[in-house]
Amino acid sequence: TDLTELVRNHIREIPDFPSPGILFRDITPLLADGPAFTALIDGLADAYRGSVDAVAGLESRGFILAAPLAAALGVGMITVRKSGRLPGPVIGVDYALEYGDARMELRPETIADGQRVLIVDDVLATGGTGAAAVELVQRAGGQVTGLAMLLELADLGGRGRLEGHRVDSVLVY
Ligand code: IMP
Repeated sequence: TDLTELVRNHIREIPDFPSPGILFRDITPLLADGPAFTALIDGLADAYRGSVDAVAGLESRGFILAAPLAAALGVGMITVRKSGRLPGPVIGVDYALEYGDARMELRPETIADGQRVLIVDDVLATGGTGAAAVELVQRAGGQVTGLAMLLELADLGGRGRLEGHRVDSVLVY
């Protein structure tokens, strides 16, 4: 689609960042371009309008997309955060990253029982972060309607770890 091409044209690829062998996809050119960023948020809002009650953003870059999307949809934004950032009570999920371990946390009080929650992040890689977010939202009583990713690195198999959930990616590598 046009949106896919727009996004493709505003992503920078940086070899060996943050460590050797990694090809990092940098979304800062997209964010810095007003018309492109606006078109992205408008496009996502059109896709989910009326079908979600809240948008859950994954720290850090997921927040950048989730907040304007939630506001455009007129629904609340939920922050799924890295370990130790949220005041309690929180629930947490530990998981393995490509390099090292990670933990995501959520304040369950920010989700109402049965709320339809869309999970948003910038990049779907191995799917570990997305799967942790799914578990947190479900444990908090929310109903995951799907995951919206800006970029998907298909080789890393993240979609497979999110089986049973709708995963939409604007651009798949
Ligand atoms: P996963 O848990 O392996 O799916 O990794 C997803 C997380 O790593 C996301 O929160 C992304 O922000 C981050 N990530 C992985 N690869 C990239 C990249 O190439 N560019 C930007 N972020 C990335």
